[in-house]
Amino acid sequence: MNVCWLISEERLHKPIKLLHWHAVVLGRGPETKIKDKKCSRRQVELKADYNKGYAKVKQLGFNPTSMDSTVIGKGNEVKMKPGQLLHIVNELYPYTIQFKEESSGEQRGVKRPREPIPVANETSGHASSQATTKNNEKEKSTQSESHPNQASKNVGGIGLWNQGLKVSMQDPKMQLYKDEKVVVIKDKYPKARYHWLVLPWQSIPNLKALRKEHCDLVRHMHKVGEQMVCQCPDSDSLRFRLGYHAIPSMSHVHLHVISQDFDSPCLKNKKHWNSFTTDYFIESKDVLQMLESEGRVGVEEGTSELLKIPLRCHMCAKELATIPALKEHLKIHF
Ligand code: AMP
Ligand code: ZN
Repeated sequence: MNVCWLISEERLHKPIKLLHWHAVVLGRGPETKIKDKKCSRRQVELKADYNKGYAKVKQLGFNPTSMDSTVIGKGNEVKMKPGQLLHIVNELYPYTIQFKEESSGEQRGVKRPREPIPVANETSGHASSQATTKNNEKEKSTQSESHPNQASKNVGGIGLWNQGLKVSMQDPKMQLYKDEKVVVIKDKYPKARYHWLVLPWQSIPNLKALRKEHCDLVRHMHKVGEQMVCQCPDSDSLRFRLGYHAIPSMSHVHLHVISQDFDSPCLKNKKHWNSFTTDYFIESKDVLQMLESEGRVGVEEGTSELLKIPLRCHMCAKELATIPALKEHLKIHF
């Protein structure tokens, strides 16, 4: 059976199980390990609805609890779906929920799942099969596709294949640059000769969670991406693009900085190609503009369909039947 888990994005503690329609009150205390006096001992009430695939979150404490950076307000209640980010108080202590199969350990009466160990190991990037978690609204709405190896990457009953960036960004061996706001890592499965990811330290799950107040951060991410291009020895001969996937497969918002040769063995399928060469790839400048003017990033309906359109060369628009044919064709340009 799918059960609902409340997950501390900072891994302050093990996931907390939210039973169906059973109120759980959280705040400062040993369960959350929050010691901050600004957080009430009874800061939020959560009630999961397994049938509807969301949890209701009510702010009980005086200081602001927020959902995707919008303050809930004392006494108010909002719905929380998988993929949305709950901050318990003052934009701190980020949490998400996941509806996942209960592990066999659970069924034998073990109260908590094992500590989640993020183990993403993407082998083919964008997935093709439908999300397996029935109630996982986020997987339905922001990931029309799930990871092909999702099943093999579930640990302790929690699907973790999409958490790998959070691990990589903390790994000094992966870090190419860092400052107080962002870190740059090499994409583990680069789709071109140069492919970097710029990630904020701030926990922001995806494009949908970006708001006007993130403009400075997004501008900084872009600037750092440009600096990466400048220091690249091939920046004179290669063109680069900076942008975001409209529907990312990996959690934690990330800016792709990618050279346009697409000369890489990791670029294996149509979804990889179309995710970087159609409007599925949203220019970083456009993201910034949307945030400045509308306060959020709009993703058009049907965007996921772009991953299925015929292969077309991004340089001369010639249509190619297969990835090997496309790769062969690209040689005339590079
Ligand atoms: P997307 O979420 O579609 O914007 O892309 C996620 C990117 O993260 C892909 O280009 C992957 O190759 C890359 N990736 C997947 N897992 C990892 C990891 N553990 N470390 C670094 N990069 C990764
Ligand atoms: Zn061409």
